Amino acid sequence: MRRRSLGGLALVGLPGLASAKEGPRVDALAEDFIEQLWQVDTEAAVAVGRFDFAARLTLPSAEQRERRRRLLKSWLPRFEAVAPSTLTPLQRMDREILLAQIRSDLWQLDELREWAWNPAAHNPASALDKILHTDWAPVHERVNALQQRAKQLPAYYQAARQSLADVTREHTELALQQLPGVLSVLEEVESAAQQVGQGAITQPIWNAARAAVSGYEAHLKRLLPTARRSFRLGGALYEAKFRHDIQSTRSARETYELALQRREEVLASMAREASVLWPQLFASEPPPADRFARIGRVIDQLSTRHVARERFVDEIRAQIPQLEAWVREKDLLTLDPSKPLVVRETPEYGRGVAGAGIEAPGPYRPQDATYYNVTPLDDALSPEQAESQLREYNQWILQILNIHEAIPGHYTQLIYANRAPSRVKALFGNGAMVEGWAVYAERMMIESGYGDSPEMRLMYGKWHLRSFTNTVLDYRVHVLGMKEAEALDLLQRQAFQTAQEAREKWRRVQLTAVQLTSYFSGYSEIMALREQLQARPGFALKAFHEQFLSYGSAPVRLIAAEMLGP
Ligand code: ZN
Ligand code: ZN
Repeated sequence: MRRRSLGGLALVGLPGLASAKEGPRVDALAEDFIEQLWQVDTEAAVAVGRFDFAARLTLPSAEQRERRRRLLKSWLPRFEAVAPSTLTPLQRMDREILLAQIRSDLWQLDELREWAWNPAAHNPASALDKILHTDWAPVHERVNALQQRAKQLPAYYQAARQSLADVTREHTELALQQLPGVLSVLEEVESAAQQVGQGAITQPIWNAARAAVSGYEAHLKRLLPTARRSFRLGGALYEAKFRHDIQSTRSARETYELALQRREEVLASMAREASVLWPQLFASEPPPADRFARIGRVIDQLSTRHVARERFVDEIRAQIPQLEAWVREKDLLTLDPSKPLVVRETPEYGRGVAGAGIEAPGPYRPQDATYYNVTPLDDALSPEQAESQLREYNQWILQILNIHEAIPGHYTQLIYANRAPSRVKALFGNGAMVEGWAVYAERMMIESGYGDSPEMRLMYGKWHLRSFTNTVLDYRVHVLGMKEAEALDLLQRQAFQTAQEAREKWRRVQLTAVQLTSYFSGYSEIMALREQLQARPGFALKAFHEQFLSYGSAPVRLIAAEMLGP
């Protein structure tokens, strides 16, 4: 729900970019602004690898928000005053991204005000975990920083309590669900302190921190029975959030309508594939006339082919080198063999929203490992829940998931973003470009013949349908008031998702807004760009991919303007 930290660049020097007159000035301004931003948001600083802020916790207090507001308002006119015509194209992109970021931040502070209604927005665990588990200093130094940070936890939770006014039930329940994860990170920190011989001295700090977590828990439980605010954003906030987060040329309404239309095209092609597969699976049984029923039966039958529950994480680990080999063999784009991708079980505090995801080092720590976090199908799930998830991530879909998350999806994109000569884009990456690329990567792999079979084509259709369905669901739920039963029907009967997947998506659409539209929005803009460039002589797919990724995680709208030229 907060800004994602994206991978970033290796070095500060920007040779060749600063030739225009105002060029050097805008680069220096951006660096200045970013440094000052870290001062008022040490959580974001740690998230991108600035461990010199490890000892300082930013309290979610009104004073802190005022400091942030003043900073943003003072910088807005300074960037506005830089004339775009004096900048290089990459600097113009940076300037637009910074302006959008500042306006978005101010809007979040004063209009969206999530800090007042989302108790899960106040969660210190991720930074604690990162400070402890990143090798940025000897363990005793990390423990010292954590000790300073943890001393401020009672004040942190007090500020959080004072900030909360009109909470939603859904976000309050999420916060309650994540609190045990906060405690378990604190436990790890405490045992690290014991290992470096500081157990006795630091004991009161951990005790006070634990008491603060319990106090927050008790407070949230008191708020829960009277939580009245709707989790639905409503049309005005939704359009505004879409404008700030997605940075598309289209409005939310236009994107919703386009998704409805594309969804229909995908359903028609899935109906054809299902009719081809039907006789092999059901012999002489006549297929249902209703296309949802026909597609659904075929998918259901094929979904029995899946990996064993306890092999889920291992199987994902085993597929990564196979995807790398395919991308090299088909010459789709250049992969960097020197960057390690570590597949691991998702840390406990991070579980609860998504099942799998890439966690990249920030732009200040390019040497660190990128993690592919996978939530294992462990005892937290009943046998029925695990089976449901395994059928969802069956033999074919699991491969598409790995394409999306890892290669050549998010992981590959992040490696390229790390090389883009812009700290601005590395830090304030555009989510729709990032998700759009991953969705585009799936399609590009299928086009290259990866896993080619009628089964793969049908399953890809089902997966691809998700990005359209996500957009439709998000808009209908937040703007048009769609109810749970209708949402589950859209997901299960009309998009062939299992009960488990549909329930998780229903949960996610209640806890987030607009993020679910980023997949389709970014994808549709990348496809439109490729179609325009394909019409030109000398188009080469590999060169298109590498050039597209070379700009870093900028909005597709800005990349397209560069690639299409004047
Ligand atoms: Zn099974
Ligand atoms: Zn993704």
